[in-house]
Amino acid sequence: MRRRFFQICLLATGLLMTFLACGSYAASGDSSPITVVIDAGHGGFDRGGIPGQRVSEKDMTLDVARRLKSVLTASGYRVVMTRDGDVFVPLGTRCSIANSNRNAIFVSVHFNSATRGGASGIETYFYSRDSLALASAIHHYVVGGAPSPSRGVRRRGYYVLRKTSIPAVLVECGFLTNPTEAGYAQNASYRQKLAEEIAAGVRSRGSVGSSFSTTRVATDESIPVQPYIDQTRVSHSKKSRSKRSSRKSTRHKKKTSSKPAEIEARVASSDREG
Ligand SMILES: [Zn+2]
Repeated sequence: MRRRFFQICLLATGLLMTFLACGSYAASGDSSPITVVIDAGHGGFDRGGIPGQRVSEKDMTLDVARRLKSVLTASGYRVVMTRDGDVFVPLGTRCSIANSNRNAIFVSVHFNSATRGGASGIETYFYSRDSLALASAIHHYVVGGAPSPSRGVRRRGYYVLRKTSIPAVLVECGFLTNPTEAGYAQNASYRQKLAEEIAAGVRSRGSVGSSFSTTRVATDESIPVQPYIDQTRVSHSKKSRSKRSSRKSTRHKKKTSSKPAEIEARVASSDREG
C-alpha cells in the first residue's frame, strides 16, 4: 500500500514536471511575434565616423535601418526604431527604448571608420552571452552578402550592448573611410542588400548559432572582452594603441575609468561608439 502511494506520488510529480515544462515553453514566446528594436547609429549633430570624413555615417545607418524595418515588418516582425529621422538620441535613451520591449532583440547599425584608408571589412559586436547567437547569425549573413572581408564576431562592452537587457548586437557594415567600401555604401541597392542580410540573420538567429556552434561561431573563450576604456576610443586609438600602449600613462582621463557614468556621458555626447 505504502509502495503504491509512493508510485502515485512519483507519477503525479512527473505529470507536474511535464506541465511546467510545457508552460515555460509557451511562456518563452516562441509563437508570439518578436520585436526587433532597430538602432540607427548616430544622428543629428553627431555625424559618426571621424572628423573630416566625407560620407556621413548617420545618413547611411538611418537608410539601412529604414530598409531593415521594411524587410522585417514584411516578415511579420514588430519593429521599433530608436530614431527614424536625423535627430540625436542619447545612448541611454536608445537603451531605455530597447529595454521597454519584452520578447525583443536589439540591432544597432553602424559603419566603421579609420584614419588608415585601407582598413576594410565587416565586424559584428556583442556583449552578453545570450547575444552571441544573434551576433553570429547576423555576421554570417552580412559577410556572406557583402564583398568586404570578415573582421569577425567580437565581444566588446559598448554602451548600447552592456546596458540593454535583451539580446543586443552592433554590426559595423564596412568602412566609410575606405574608398571602395564607401562606394558600396553609397549605392542604394547595396544598402538594401545589407538590410536583407541583417534580416536573414535575425530570422536565423537560432539555427545559425547551433549549426555553426563549433566552426563559425566564435566562443567566449576566443573573444575576450575588451578593456572597458577601449570602447570610448576605438576610432581614435586603434592605430596608436598598436604602436604604443604607454600612451595610457599620459592619459589624464585614466582616473575616470572608475567612473563609468562620466565616461558614458562623454561617449553619449561625442557618440564615438561604433
Ligand atoms: Zn558608428
